[in-house]
Order: sequence, then C-alpha cells, then structure tokens
Amino acid sequence: MSDLRRTLPAVHVLLEQDGVRALAERVPRSVVAEAVRAELAAARTKPAHAPTTEEAWTAAIAARLAASERATLQPVLNATGVVLHTNLGRAPLAEAAIDAMADVARGFASLEYDLVTGARGSRHVHCAGLLRELTGAEDALIVNNCAAALVLALNTVADGREAIVSRGELVEIGGSFRVPDIMARSGARLVEVGTTNRTHAEDYRRACTAQTGAIVSVHRSNFTVDGFVAAVPTRALAELADAAGVPLLYDFGSGLMLDLAPWGLRGEPTARDAVAAGASLVVMSGDKLLGGPQAGIVLGRAELVDAMRRNPLARALRVDKLTLAALQATLRLYREPSRAVRDIPALAMLTASAESLQARAAALVARLPGARVGARVASTEATVGGGAFPSSRIPSCAVVLAGDAERRERALRDGALPVVGRIADGALWLDLRGIAAADDDRLLQAIVEAVR
Ligand SMILES: *Cc1c(COP(=O)(O)O)cnc(C)c1O
Repeated sequence: MSDLRRTLPAVHVLLEQDGVRALAERVPRSVVAEAVRAELAAARTKPAHAPTTEEAWTAAIAARLAASERATLQPVLNATGVVLHTNLGRAPLAEAAIDAMADVARGFASLEYDLVTGARGSRHVHCAGLLRELTGAEDALIVNNCAAALVLALNTVADGREAIVSRGELVEIGGSFRVPDIMARSGARLVEVGTTNRTHAEDYRRACTAQTGAIVSVHRSNFTVDGFVAAVPTRALAELADAAGVPLLYDFGSGLMLDLAPWGLRGEPTARDAVAAGASLVVMSGDKLLGGPQAGIVLGRAELVDAMRRNPLARALRVDKLTLAALQATLRLYREPSRAVRDIPALAMLTASAESLQARAAALVARLPGARVGARVASTEATVGGGAFPSSRIPSCAVVLAGDAERRERALRDGALPVVGRIADGALWLDLRGIAAADDDRLLQAIVEAVR
C-alpha cells in the first residue's frame, strides 16, 4: 500500500466532520455515506488528486452529493440547429398537450372506462377517431413507437411467412434501429429484392409466392439516393400487393400531417398521402414531424388494424394515459392547420422566418455583456432532424460566442439550464432554430452565467 493510500481517512472519521454532519441534516445519512465512500474510492484511484484538508474533503463530498442529487434527465435548450434532435428527446410538446397530460396525470382517467355507458371501455378509442378524420384511414392504433408499430404489423400479418423488401430500403434509422434486424424479430422471414440503387415492380412480383405474408416499403427518411436509381412508387406497389393478395406495410417514419412546402420543406409525403397511396398499413412516429409524444401510430385497413389490436404483442407495446392524452391534444390542433403550425412547437420552429430568428439573435447579442462574451450574430443552416427532409437546409441564425469554444461549450452544458450548441470554426454556435422565442430570456441568462 502506498503512503498516500494509507493516509486516507476512514469513512466514519469523514462522517463525523462538522461539515459532513451538516450535509446529513438535509440528505439521508445513508446517501451522505455513499458519497463519502465514492469520494474515498476516487481518492484511492487518483491519490495525487485526493483532498488533503478537512475543508477540502467536505467540499468534495458536498460536490459529489450535489451531482448525485441532480436528475440525469433534465430540460435543456437545443441550440444545435437540428430541430427534432433524437438525443434531445425529439419534439417538444404543445401547451395543449402538456395541459392534457397534467390533467390525467394528477388523478384517475377514463382510460379504459366508457363514460357514456358506464362500462368497461378501450384505451384504443382515444386517438383513433381523430386519426381517421385527419388522415382518411379506416382505423388507427397507437403503440410505443414506430419501431414497435413495425414489429407488431409484421408479426400480425407475416409471422412465419415471408416479408418482401427492397435492398435499397434495408436502412439504419439510427441508434439500434436497423430495418432488417427489426423485421427478423417480428417472426417474418426477410426476402430481399432488387439492388441498392434500383428495384423494379418485376422484382417484387417475382418474389411473391404462397409463402408471402407482406410487402414492406420503408421510407428512406434519413438519406437520399440519386444518380442511376429506380424505386416503385407506393401507389404502384400497393396495386401490385393487391394483385398478389398480400398487404403492403408502409413505414413512412416522419408522421408529417401537413404539407410544409409553403415553408420550403418539400419531398416528404404526409400521413394522408401515405394512406391515399393505398398502403394497407402505414406506420409512423408520434414525436417527429407530427410534434407529439413518443408513440407509434398505425393507420390502415380496419380488419388489419383490428387484427393488430387483438395480437397479444399489442399488450406489451401499448401506451399509457399520458401518451394518449398528449397525442389526442396534439392531434386536435391539426383540425385547424394554421393553429397547428402556430401551437405545435416543432412546426412553429421549422416554419419561423429567418428574419425573425435574425431579429431575436440581434436582440440577444445586444443584451449580452459586450466584450467579455464577444458575441455576434451569424447566418446558419438548420436541419429538420428526426430522419426527415434529410437534404433540406433551413436558413437559420445563431449567436456565436468568441473565446475558448471548448470551455464555453462545457460551461453552457454544466449550467442550471444546460444549453447544447455546436462548435465550428473554433467558436461556439448557438442556433436559434430549435429554441422557442419564449425561451430567449432563459438562453440569455444561461449564457451570462456560463461566461461569468
Ligand atoms: C424514425 C423512423 C423509425 C423509428 O421510429 P421510432 O418512433 O423512433 O421507433 C422507423 N422508420 C422510419 C422510416 C423512421 O424514419
């Protein structure tokens, strides 16, 4: 044992220090003891950095306690310029959705209770009507996320049978979501057709056999291919599937409910387009462009959606009252599209004019304590994120902080309200596209505290 290690105080000695005893007055003693042990363990691995005085030990233990009391899941400001940032929780919720969640969270709710008949009801009714109305689908079902919806759809129609998919659509969505892996887990046998860049109707037709359970089409949501490429349009694929007597499952991902072309975002189908194209089942996410809570939304033919609902797996993938409340409230906003664009934060952020962001950035810079921050306004390009509109660049604006970018980045990340920006050209860029105008004051305060 080294001398340094031998000189480390014992746990009970540290616990008896006045400063540490004071900590135990507001935190359970067992929690303080845990912090003491962790601090001693750290001192043993890095003896050169070990505290040497009583005050230093108290301070180190207090800091460790503070860190352990801080929630790991915290609100942050998204200054990355990627609006639907998966690592930052995708879509922020509309106020109406937050209120609806809070309302049912506080007490009991008519989750599976029919208030009209006073008898047992079904959680599946809560969003289905609105989704039918908004998308034209015959029926709808909500599960945990889009990946779950895809697994459930495949398991329902193609368990032990073949699912045909183009090699150009065996994509990775990000993290641990690879379409072929998910499909394999559903019990369906994957049959790959076509090539990476070109798949033709004939490729699908030739692969259809008595073993076929479904044709699967996956929207290439997070990348584009161009050059010598060919794919079968959804409508033609739906006709082909129909002729073969098998359902077409269309994973279209984004959950886009409104055409965003007036704001320069083109090329993604809406949910209504996806249904109208004739897919038997459409699956999409609730927390991407739809702007709601994490959820997987299934739209499609009544008998297939009903079969999915009765699949025992549906029980394992179901959502709770909070998700349903938030989703229903979000969907209700879409009855009036102008209201949806205004009140659903993801849509408001994506459709805000570059001029409005410029003005906000200028106002922020003007309010920052000049020389110390060295802030300036700069034009940027933001992206949608969440694997949608992969090649769209949205004109945006950032507050750029001069000075040691790494230090600034760390300080903003460490703040009471962490701000996640991006380092480029040796400076820290805080893009306003993913920050609600109502949060500008909080952003300002976070910057002021970080540069202090
Ligand atoms: C995002 C995405 C998914 C995964 O959605 P989750 O809701 O995260 O499970 C699946 N398919 C496509 C095409 C997507 O874009």
